[in-house]
Amino acid sequence: MTRIFDDDLEHALATRAVHAGQRPDEASGAIMTPIYQTSTYVQTALGEHKGFEYARTRNPTRDALERNVATLEGATHGFAYASGLAATDTVLKLLSAGDHVVSGWNLYGGTHRLMTHIFERHGLEFSFVDTRDVGRIEEALQPATKMIFVETPTNPMMHLTDLAATGALAKDRGILLVVDNTFATPVLQRPIALGAEIVIHSTTKYLNGHSDMVGGMAVTTRDDIAEQLAFIQNAAGGIPGPLDCWLALRGTKTLALRMAQHDASGRAIAGFLNEHSLVQHTYYPGLPDHPQHELACRQMSGFGGMISIELGSTPRARCFVETIRLFALAESLGGVESLIGHPASMTHASVPRAMREEMGLTDGLVRLSVGIEDLDDLLKDLDQALAVAAKA
Ligand SMILES: *Cc1c(COP(=O)(O)O)cnc(C)c1O
Repeated sequence: MTRIFDDDLEHALATRAVHAGQRPDEASGAIMTPIYQTSTYVQTALGEHKGFEYARTRNPTRDALERNVATLEGATHGFAYASGLAATDTVLKLLSAGDHVVSGWNLYGGTHRLMTHIFERHGLEFSFVDTRDVGRIEEALQPATKMIFVETPTNPMMHLTDLAATGALAKDRGILLVVDNTFATPVLQRPIALGAEIVIHSTTKYLNGHSDMVGGMAVTTRDDIAEQLAFIQNAAGGIPGPLDCWLALRGTKTLALRMAQHDASGRAIAGFLNEHSLVQHTYYPGLPDHPQHELACRQMSGFGGMISIELGSTPRARCFVETIRLFALAESLGGVESLIGHPASMTHASVPRAMREEMGLTDGLVRLSVGIEDLDDLLKDLDQALAVAAKA
């Protein structure tokens, strides 16, 4: 089980991002944690080793990443996985058949699929509710409820959940609050400080930030949960390889800097889109007319680079995503390069249509992941593509 170093919480987040969880390599003094590309470790005598026996259980590169991300979230234990969904899979395996989970209704499509197509088959029960209203969460609680699982802001509707209120409710009832913090990152939002017991990440997105690996993390402050997560990580084996851990670890070093730019450009672009005549609606928690803007100001220190816009029709959405040049048409988000996607046919195709429509996830909805390119270049590109899409 990877616990953070005792001094890892001493400094501010930007400092921790660069240094936490890492020590110069003992053999050489190398400042960067090496990629320990090994499956096993030599024992000096029967039962005598340096804490590493087999690389599914532990790997020094993975240890460094696990400590680093745990520290950024203000947690004490971290666990890395082969993907964000593998992290969620492991966290759901904390539960047993017959247990009930209250989940946000606007989850990442793959998370919804994992819950309904796999874990329901294994006897877990889920209620999907609109967690913008904490009252709905409370109403959905049952005697068997063991977990509340939310994303905030959500993908792609930018719905927020009041983490402090939900955390208080969960604590009161002895229920685990799990927060997928992929969108906000610990730079903009710290769920553990607000009452969450487990935080999940797709490190594929902002934590890595360079679109060159797939990975996930789960972190916690609870020793008993950490023990179970360590057991499942080793017993079920959904671990990442050392190269992917190293790439994610290199990514987190610049997380604070990158998020500052994603946030600054996100705010400017959301403002521009919100004023544009072709854009029927702009979903961004940083806009004063976002219905939960006040909550966003309270629980986030910035609003990030994820924006969704309603263009009103499939032909317009199609024309826009195919005309734009700097925003690459691709799934995923959170990289240094700007990306654009069509949730209804891409990331959220696995969510039933009726549920998509109920939450406003229409065929005219387009999602932007604003990268760190020059802001004026991005604005010019959006402007020209909207002008072309207006004729579609
Ligand atoms: C991408 C994503 C996931 C899944 O992560 P993978 O690394 O693709 O498995 C989970 N939650 C959110 C919010 C995501 O954006």
